[in-house]
Amino acid sequence: MLVASVISPLAANANQPATPVTQWTAPSDPGAPFRPEAGRLDVALERLALLERRDGIADALREIEDPRIVGVLRSENRRINTELGDLDDRAYRGEVEPFGLDVAVFPVDELRKMFWDDWGQPRSGGRRHQGNDTLAQIGTPLRAIEDSVIVKIGNGGLAGLAITVDGASGSAWFYAHLDSVREDLEVGDRVRAGEVIGTVGDTGNARGAPHLHLQWASDGETWENPFPVLDVLWGGGAPPADESLGPFIGRR
Ligand SMILES: [Zn+2]
Repeated sequence: MLVASVISPLAANANQPATPVTQWTAPSDPGAPFRPEAGRLDVALERLALLERRDGIADALREIEDPRIVGVLRSENRRINTELGDLDDRAYRGEVEPFGLDVAVFPVDELRKMFWDDWGQPRSGGRRHQGNDTLAQIGTPLRAIEDSVIVKIGNGGLAGLAITVDGASGSAWFYAHLDSVREDLEVGDRVRAGEVIGTVGDTGNARGAPHLHLQWASDGETWENPFPVLDVLWGGGAPPADESLGPFIGRR
């Protein structure tokens, strides 16, 4: 019964009208209030409905073990994340009010293989892997995980073409082995969560093995394992035990 009550609302949601206006919650920044205008409110409600459905999926994934249903839920979660990314793109283009953009999104649109926890694995020269690798085709869009400021755009060495950003949560992020960085991006630019900032590639020491190498420092300085964050963003099953993940869970 639990499964039926969880799944059916999700399945039914796709063609339902948007969430009622009364469920809209005010933006956290009072200096930039969201003012619904004609033609924009639908988008606000669309985003809210997506976030609520994503929360519902996260709750369901804590309860359900049937792999078939878990697969359906994760697939739905990915679709929702794509839709949220599209909304952010529209906000960036000025088509909609930029609201609720402090949500975090999975950075790669399409995976070639499931990512895994490869933090700390041995690397050449006695190094240890300081991030997680996400395999994807060359040219796959790379999205900012959260609202960020571009700190550095580098090209060379083991990392190849790479972007370092400071995120709104206080985290630093390092995206490496890129094929391209969006042409108009410069140091100091602000980007929104979900905004495309470049493409996945195989530059640096990743030649022939295109992937995103991602590093994360929740305090902005010390690299730590980003896998739990990626897992949550992807819609992973296990609820995170680490309090430091707070900024990424249920943020609106
Ligand atoms: Zn790596």
